[in-house]
Amino acid sequence: MLVAIGRRPNTGGLGLDKTGLGLNKKGQIEVDHRFATAVPGIWAIGDVVPGLMLAHKAMDEGIAVAENIAGQIGIVNHAVIPSVVYTHPEIAGVGLTEEEARTRGEIKVGKFPFAANSPAKTNRDTDGFVKVVADAETDRVLGVHIISTLAGTMIAQAAQGMEFGVTSEDIAYTCHAHPTHSEALKEAAMAVTGKPIHM
Ligand SMILES: Cc1cc2nc3c(=O)[nH]c(=O)nc-3n(C[C@H](O)[C@H](O)[C@H](O)COP(=O)(O)OP(=O)(O)OC[C@H]3O[C@@H](n4cnc5c(N)ncnc54)[C@H](O)[C@@H]3O)c2cc1C
Repeated sequence: MLVAIGRRPNTGGLGLDKTGLGLNKKGQIEVDHRFATAVPGIWAIGDVVPGLMLAHKAMDEGIAVAENIAGQIGIVNHAVIPSVVYTHPEIAGVGLTEEEARTRGEIKVGKFPFAANSPAKTNRDTDGFVKVVADAETDRVLGVHIISTLAGTMIAQAAQGMEFGVTSEDIAYTCHAHPTHSEALKEAAMAVTGKPIHM
């Protein structure tokens, strides 16, 4: 068994000591929202700055920092970075977990199992579920979590919706093609108000 966990920023050979740029307690380079460091002309993104250590986060930050250096406006919404565990089935999530959201206020939760989703049943691949976490008052979606063989692909719809401030009602009233795995997200959103139709 190989256990390979725990990563840290690789800043050793960058010569930061010659620039006067320090590291925080986690060995990371602090940046502002434009990815500018405290030293003018030095910018940083990716695993060496605070946040999730993920390739897509680093790629989006790379685009944003290039735009900022060019005098344009480059933004990354760090509240909406999806994470995927590439197991079988996959585990994907974006935004707050149910536990995190509960510490911040009243929430509503809708859950829908792939055991009640038609293509999952047809493919005999019914492990998993979709969970939608929404603000109890505004209905704004705070997090979506999916376990499914297609979770990593499906989470993109949730991330896109959350980027645009989607509510669970918005997802529930969006027509999803049948039979598709993505219907499970619609039904989980419907379950937020107790109204899934296949369960
Ligand atoms: C085994 C493994 C699996 C992973 N799987 C995934 C995954 O499935 N999905 C995902 O989203 N993320 C995954 N990650 C994380 C992902 O690879 C990183 O988050 C991402 O590569 C960070 O991008 P970056 O540009 O910050 O750093 P990097 O991609 O590490 O790029 C930094 C570059 O700088 C170079 N460099 C470092 N020091 C110096 C120096 N002194 N001078 C010149 N060059 C230097 C390095 O050689 C490297 O090419 C994985 C990481 C590991 C280790």
